[in-house]
Amino acid sequence: MWLPYNRNAPTDNATPDDCDWTTVSQTLLCVSLTTPTVEETLSVLHSAGRRFDIAELRLDYLPEPTEDDVRRLLEGRPCPVIVTNRPEREGGRWTGDEAARLELLAVADRLGADYVDVEIDSLDGYAPQGRAGLIVSYHNYDETPADLAAIARRIEQTDAAVVKLATHANSLLDNLAAIHVLRDATKPTIAVTMGEHGHVSRVLGAKFGAFLVFASLGAGREAAPGQVPVDQMLDLYRFRNVGPGTALYGVVANPVAHSMSPAIHNAAFGHCGIDAVYLPFRVDDVAEFIPAYQTLPVAGYSVTIPHKQSVIALLQDVQPLAARIGAVNTIVDRGGRLVGSNTDWSAAVAAVGSGLREGESLDGKRVLLVGAGGAARAMAFGLAERGCDVVIANRTRERAVRLAADVGCTQVDVADMGSVPYDILVNGTSLGMHPRVDATPADAAMLREGAVVFDSVYNPLETRLLREAAGAGCRTVKGLEMFVNQAVEQFELWTGQTAPRDVMRQVVAARLSG
Ligand code: NAP
Repeated sequence: MWLPYNRNAPTDNATPDDCDWTTVSQTLLCVSLTTPTVEETLSVLHSAGRRFDIAELRLDYLPEPTEDDVRRLLEGRPCPVIVTNRPEREGGRWTGDEAARLELLAVADRLGADYVDVEIDSLDGYAPQGRAGLIVSYHNYDETPADLAAIARRIEQTDAAVVKLATHANSLLDNLAAIHVLRDATKPTIAVTMGEHGHVSRVLGAKFGAFLVFASLGAGREAAPGQVPVDQMLDLYRFRNVGPGTALYGVVANPVAHSMSPAIHNAAFGHCGIDAVYLPFRVDDVAEFIPAYQTLPVAGYSVTIPHKQSVIALLQDVQPLAARIGAVNTIVDRGGRLVGSNTDWSAAVAAVGSGLREGESLDGKRVLLVGAGGAARAMAFGLAERGCDVVIANRTRERAVRLAADVGCTQVDVADMGSVPYDILVNGTSLGMHPRVDATPADAAMLREGAVVFDSVYNPLETRLLREAAGAGCRTVKGLEMFVNQAVEQFELWTGQTAPRDVMRQVVAARLSG
């Protein structure tokens, strides 16, 4: 069990160098209390539902903080605290006199604070009065400078008990600079990046041995841009389980904010007790991102819009059907070789197959597939591979003609769809997708009793097409099935274990019905 620095010191006269840092067995989760009154700060600090290990008391968020305020905050505290009084020039709210600011920190030290945070350029003006661990910090709200490692070395040479670097990440690559600082650290170190890309350094701080990482109390209560809410750190990313041996996975996409994949895969890893964490990566340039992140390395990626095609050039091996489709949605690192596959086609084939009667096979079934975009392309190749007789119809006729030629199947104009005989109707367009839920790719008159109707749209769970098809006596299959299937296959490709399908389905269904 870790103890706060000044309680852990072997003797009363101990200096930071005497402290046995090996007792810090796990990265701490710290919440910055940016509450505007002492009463509110105390209420959060002492709340029964407290989910953090250590709190940062931000004196600069209090109006004109006094010695008495500091005493009240420190008295009977239930966990270690860092006292911070950040000036405006370093991204804080203190606008008063510099000497008074540092004096308040010295008072906190005298009153027994566990840690006091002093900015590196203020060290000369700071006179410690007690035994608090000194956190010497550097902040940069514009960028992660190229000489971050040199700055870390400079702080290590001060009296710092803990080195702290917080810099803005202008790209995902900036997280790697923070991670390198953690890897090379000779003192307990905090190295986080700020901004929308910063969650990587925060979640992975625990993997690379950060002294602590900061989380926010909740969305909208961040002390620095990009702080992840404490509940998300613990429940989504399973922060307590992240450690040096944790394998890293993630989804490469742009945009990525609404991706359900982190929720699905982290829940699956957690359920199976697999030491792995899955992160969202909003990637602009996949050719720059993947080689850089393989230095960590990342054990597997999900790949989605707009990178499914361009990523192929970066892989050492591509599954034959994925190569024919021209799209990869799953990458596995096999001993340093990146192998790409496409689980969309197999997921769709399995979903469509689940609508068949027992003993029936896809072989020889007539499929009318509406759409010729990315999803339709994977489905057309997959269904043809399974022996289906596929007919493609698409709003933009030329795309359907091209896809039919690539697959070696037939194309029909949308206006003539009604006269095409089929056993299976597949919607591969986005028609019916939220928010335009009244749209449908096929008139009700086209729906035939006994046919299988599969809608790849999964939001909403029940589309207009599926409602009308059920009403016409069709056997319907939801897009949710394909979505779950592709995630299940990804999980199994990465881990070699049977995926917890029901857990994954519940996560998706809960998200979509919520
Ligand atoms: P995409 O590449 O952009 O293709 C969109 C397709 O929809 C094209 O065929 C497009 O026709 C057609 N379309 C769009 N708006 C239309 C309209 N107003 N009228 C007629 N056709 C229209 O997108 P995608 O990635 O293939 O995704 C298509 C759908 O599949 C989405 O709803 C997506 O959520 C779903 N999907 C589901 C899963 C799953 O696991 N269930 C996986 C992937 C995708 P044009 O060629 O004429 O533009």
